[in-house]
Amino acid sequence: MEYSKQYTKHTRVELTSLVAAQMSDKRFQHVLRVETKALELAEKYHVDLEKASIAALTHDYAKERPDEEMIAIIMNSEIDNEIIRYGNNIWHGVVGSRLVLKELGISNQDILNAIESHTTGRSNMSELEKVIYVADYIEEGRNFPVVEEARKIAEVSLDEAVAFETKHTLLYLINNQNKIYPKTLETYNAWVVK
Ligand code: GDP
Ligand code: FE
Ligand code: FE
Ligand code: FE
Repeated sequence: MEYSKQYTKHTRVELTSLVAAQMSDKRFQHVLRVETKALELAEKYHVDLEKASIAALTHDYAKERPDEEMIAIIMNSEIDNEIIRYGNNIWHGVVGSRLVLKELGISNQDILNAIESHTTGRSNMSELEKVIYVADYIEEGRNFPVVEEARKIAEVSLDEAVAFETKHTLLYLINNQNKIYPKTLETYNAWVVK
């Protein structure tokens, strides 16, 4: 895909190498599969393909940073320190959006929001945010029990796919007695509750 240079000074090939340098090959392959799925959803639901590609490639940019570095970034930023209690799963989107701005120079707010909300969702997600949230959940490498159903729903309705993912993520977290980040509940109340 040829980028317009509106959202990043890098070519797609340059951006993929910058991302690859931040993570294991296994995670990088996941990132590429998220991009493929995000482009598919973006085309279907009329979302900007270039923004979908950039957000997908950068969504897990911070995922393999050491915990100490992540904690230092949180403490030295405007991010609520309360987040420290939740661990990397919750940090990496929030910190990732800041690092992608600072280190990659990507400043489009919709792209940064998509990175920030990709794990938990939020109440007012843009179409791009929904595409990244869902693509990350249903990319072809995922193989948890309800993924096939999630993929089928995503072919019919992006909003229904957001609702399905949110409900099943919350059920999974509760079943495993994991700590629920308030934003996850915000997403549940906005997208799942009738
Ligand atoms: P990945 O980075 O591609 O592995 O995927 P995500 O960023 O979407 O999710 C990372 C992990 O965070 C997944 O295992 C989710 O189930 C988990 N997660 C999502 N919401 C919450 C939450 O509210 N609390 C906790 N503890 N984990 C969550
Ligand atoms: Fe992630
Ligand atoms: Fe996700
Ligand atoms: Fe991911």
